[in-house]
Amino acid sequence: MHGIRIDIPHKGLVVLSGPAGSGKSTLAERYFTAEEIVSSDACRAIVGQGEGDMRASPQAFQLFYRRIEERLARAQLVVADSTALAPSSRRKLLAIARRHELPATLVVLAASLDTCLRRNAARRRRVPARVIRRHVEQLAQSLAHVDQEGFDRVYVIPDEALRAGTVQIRRVPLPVERPESGPFDIIGDIHGCFLELVELLERLGYRRRDSVMAHPGGRMAVFLGDLTDRGPYNVSCILLVEAMVRAGAALYVPGNHCRKLYRWLTGHRVVLQHGVERTVRELSALPAPLRQEVADRFRRLYEQAPPYMILDGGRLVVAHAGIKESMIGRMSRRITHFCLFGDATGERTPDGLPVRRDWARDYRGQALIVYGHTPVETAVWRHNTINIDQGCVFGGRLTAFRYPEGEIVQVEALAPYDPRPNIRTWEAYAGMDGSGEEPASGPGGSVGDFGRADAAEPLHIAGVSTPSAGSISDSPTASVTVPPPVSVSNPPGPKSI
Ligand code: GDP
Ligand code: MG
Repeated sequence: MHGIRIDIPHKGLVVLSGPAGSGKSTLAERYFTAEEIVSSDACRAIVGQGEGDMRASPQAFQLFYRRIEERLARAQLVVADSTALAPSSRRKLLAIARRHELPATLVVLAASLDTCLRRNAARRRRVPARVIRRHVEQLAQSLAHVDQEGFDRVYVIPDEALRAGTVQIRRVPLPVERPESGPFDIIGDIHGCFLELVELLERLGYRRRDSVMAHPGGRMAVFLGDLTDRGPYNVSCILLVEAMVRAGAALYVPGNHCRKLYRWLTGHRVVLQHGVERTVRELSALPAPLRQEVADRFRRLYEQAPPYMILDGGRLVVAHAGIKESMIGRMSRRITHFCLFGDATGERTPDGLPVRRDWARDYRGQALIVYGHTPVETAVWRHNTINIDQGCVFGGRLTAFRYPEGEIVQVEALAPYDPRPNIRTWEAYAGMDGSGEEPASGPGGSVGDFGRADAAEPLHIAGVSTPSAGSISDSPTASVTVPPPVSVSNPPGPKSI
């Protein structure tokens, strides 16, 4: 009998569910501290005449939910020890976790009637056998749909494993909490500006190694999303970034343009404008097997990326469009939306642009936040935040922020690939991104949209080579054709990789 390993995010809600006598309280005590466990029995004893005082249940459950709420409000771990066999009680607990934007894990102890009755008979406070029978019936009904109730993770421990005692609980970080501490080269919105990207990486000391660019000194690139759209070499940008991330030479958080491309690739309705039409055209020009391969790689990259990353033990946070202090260390659909799109109010200006609040103006946190999304002429510090999107695709610059040095390294755009916006500020123009397809915001939904981990795969992609200036692939089977770059104006020119 092999063991069952249960991964519990080290903060958030753990809901135990199972009949009386299934072993919930015993399991909780083995792996969690008394402060982390909130038990409905203990709440009955606090407000009533003991753990078995059923008449005290209404008040006991008020206390139960309140204590859970209080720990989640402070982003702590809390283990809810009650039978939670009615779908409505699981729903209620899940709603509390969602409200506090933390993961919710459901652990069902699927003990047999026999196991429960035997254990019940051996313990001090016995529950009537008819109650246990009813619990086991409720359990059977629950098992049919517990995995569709919206919990981020659901573990069902079968009777054999409960009897054999082979369950192990392990605490794990949230997907947004990363072990890497740098040094990093954080790179702003690329938007298909592949030649500038290669130039920038070379200036930073990265060298070609197989199909990736890696730093001999072990520095890591951190890509802030929006790899594609508007610019000339979108496929190449996808392939290089994806390969670097897979090789462990880079980290990546997604941007709103990444989301839009992902949605197009997964069959959602997407309005092909604001630059994604260029990426789609490039993809469509590829031979079918190659197109499939690039699409698969991008999908995997996007699916495995957390919406933002906490790095260097919490001293550094990266997010495409930024993040509010109160969101750091929490996860929800609302937070993911903020990280990808910024603080859109849902209103529109008279010109039809989404209205955005300036979150960085109010940021007062300790962590340094490096972000992009809204092109600004120069990367300036504001309250421990820095925007490193200098609008390369509009003829600006591609920026790298070196961490922890705090140094800026930039490459001038070879050309304005997309006309400069014909409106006063870059900030306002950036508001056009993703218009029409922004997902509904508001709490709710699964944390598990991001952060799924798959096994690493081999690096090389047959038949695709990334373009150097004006070159094409040397593959015998398929090639990515790259038109020569428009007027190389700034020395040193892009080098071949
Ligand atoms: P709960 O009602 O689900 O909280 O169940 P408890 O944790 O109170 O366990 C019920 C009884 O079963 C107690 O007397 C426990 O000591 C016993 N028990 C719990 N887990 C195990 C186990 O893994 N093995 C054995 N043999 N007994 C257990
Ligand atoms: Mg118990």
